[in-house]
Amino acid sequence: MDQLGVSGRSALMRKVRRKGTAPELVVRSALHSLKLRFRVNRSDLFGNPDIVLPKWKTVIFVHGCFWHDHAGCRRASKPSTRADFWQAKFIRNRKRDILVRRTLRANGWRVITIWECQARRPILRTRLSRLFPIEMKKPKEDS
Ligand SMILES: [Zn+2]
Repeated sequence: MDQLGVSGRSALMRKVRRKGTAPELVVRSALHSLKLRFRVNRSDLFGNPDIVLPKWKTVIFVHGCFWHDHAGCRRASKPSTRADFWQAKFIRNRKRDILVRRTLRANGWRVITIWECQARRPILRTRLSRLFPIEMKKPKEDS
């Protein structure tokens, strides 16, 4: 699991961060297909949300299961070496995620978390279309 070692992994994560991760791109593409407008890398918002939909006052975090310690997810399996180091790191990450969500919500934002393991079409598209019930999909007569 931990073949890269700590520094190799950090370097890799920095590289990934700049461009947007693969799951993030899946989410963006699903939003595009629903004709939802969004912005990325809004560093003026607390916690640097991955995706922001200003019109919906909504932010989306696309969380890597490993880094954000997705509960019960097999992608969040722990490295067997340096267990204490990783344990401390995951606890920090989790606390930070909670703080970020609370702060943004307190400022009136709806906060959506999409886990890497959930970033698959078409399930994701369905979920997003429920979160953003846009008028374009309405049937002709109101029910
Ligand atoms: Zn997961």
